[in-house]
Amino acid sequence: MIWARRSLAGWGRALRAETLAARPERAAQPARLLAGTDGPVCAAGALRSYGDAALNSGGRTIITTRLDRVLAFDPAGGVAEVEAGVTIGALISLFAPMGWMPAVAPGTGFATVGGCIANDVHGKNHHGAGSFGQHVESIELLGPDGAVRRVAAGEPLFAATVGGVGLTGMILSARLRLARCPARAMAVEERRMPDLDAFVDGFEASRHPFAVGWVDATATGREIGRGILEEADFAPPDAPVPRRGPRMRVPLDAPGFLLSGPVVRTFNRAWARRVPAGGRMRVRALESFLFPLDGIADWNRLYGRRGFHQFQCVLPHDAAEALHAMLAAIGGAGLASPLAVLKRLGPGRGGLLSFPMEGWTLAVDLPNRPEAVALIRRLNDMTLEAGGRIYLAKDSLAAPGHLAAMYPELDRFRSLADEADPAGRFVTDLARRLELRG
Ligand SMILES: Cc1cc2nc3c(=O)[nH]c(=O)nc-3n(C[C@H](O)[C@H](O)[C@H](O)COP(=O)(O)OP(=O)(O)OC[C@H]3O[C@@H](n4cnc5c(N)ncnc54)[C@H](O)[C@@H]3O)c2cc1C
Repeated sequence: MIWARRSLAGWGRALRAETLAARPERAAQPARLLAGTDGPVCAAGALRSYGDAALNSGGRTIITTRLDRVLAFDPAGGVAEVEAGVTIGALISLFAPMGWMPAVAPGTGFATVGGCIANDVHGKNHHGAGSFGQHVESIELLGPDGAVRRVAAGEPLFAATVGGVGLTGMILSARLRLARCPARAMAVEERRMPDLDAFVDGFEASRHPFAVGWVDATATGREIGRGILEEADFAPPDAPVPRRGPRMRVPLDAPGFLLSGPVVRTFNRAWARRVPAGGRMRVRALESFLFPLDGIADWNRLYGRRGFHQFQCVLPHDAAEALHAMLAAIGGAGLASPLAVLKRLGPGRGGLLSFPMEGWTLAVDLPNRPEAVALIRRLNDMTLEAGGRIYLAKDSLAAPGHLAAMYPELDRFRSLADEADPAGRFVTDLARRLELRG
């Protein structure tokens, strides 16, 4: 197994790490890689986290994408045992024809099972289905000493590993409880929301298993929070599945003016009107509903060479006013890209450092410029003041002081991580920056 010098970046391309990387192909190899070296190691999946969650500057990185086998499947109960590098998209392609799919899918099908457990990801059905880790029965975890142990849901180490951003060891495989997949198409109802109050009411009244909002983060004044609410359920099994268009690619780093304030404002205005005033119903292929951006390869190059940051927070359910203030700050700054998402989350969370809490989650992409960095720092402070938390999978700018108040189980996490990895061999740039191990 060869270690190669690599420059790796988070999905936002604003943070990079020079590292020695290896991509093992057999489940036994990661233990040998650990035994044959010393120094800090990090496990990485598809590097779809936006900031530095999967980066390890000056250390070693074990990339799991070739550990992508399905080890066992019980078609009656829908339980699958898979290696950590299997992607969510691959699970859908393989199991949907048999009537099963992952119970939770994030907004990209390229994320791996290991990455989804380590960030305890949520999907458009979080309000009903909870988070990814809540559908995991057990994992095989490689410790810093090279020993592999099976850790089952309910054990303290399991709660530290789900959402534990790779700091308790390397997940080699997982047993997942899949959910029924009655159709490969979704019936999606789209409605215009004139402002944030309408959005809040729309989410509150929604009875659909899937709900997500596109929000115009450039809007100001009375239009703050306007956007489009998408509510969805599976289409009838015999509904024809719309064909997905050919995959496009962004061939080069885009010039700065492409996402300048006036261009984005004009685009957003038109985008908000694509849905007729009375709303509309559409049938969409399952994957294009779940992973709307996956049809454009390398879309992160649209932000140019300097890349971008994503700010994502969750605010408690009763903090809609703080949400309004955040959207006002973002709209007033005139920096937002068209990519801004609003969702209502339920209480479900699988681990001690899991992101979800009952309330409102807002995600906004912002170009990597000094004004945007200052804005995100302000938004982080506003999140803290409102009793919310920021998402480690997206963060690249928070400070250690933010974390303890946002993640009240941080101390418990630290003591379990100390037991699992006393010398702190598993580490990332995110963990160093936010002092996650204390
Ligand atoms: C377009 C897009 C949409 C997204 N939408 C959502 C969304 O709706 N909801 C959501 O929750 N997230 C979302 N995300 C974030 C993404 O789902 C998470 O960042 C996810 O963790 C990425 O998986 P990955 O395989 O790329 O992991 P990486 O980014 O490579 O790693 C993530 C973390 O997991 C750790 N890790 C990876 N593999 C292992 C392993 N085998 N063992 C131990 N630790 C490991 C890494 O050290 C790191 O801390 C989105 C990302 C993109 C790009």
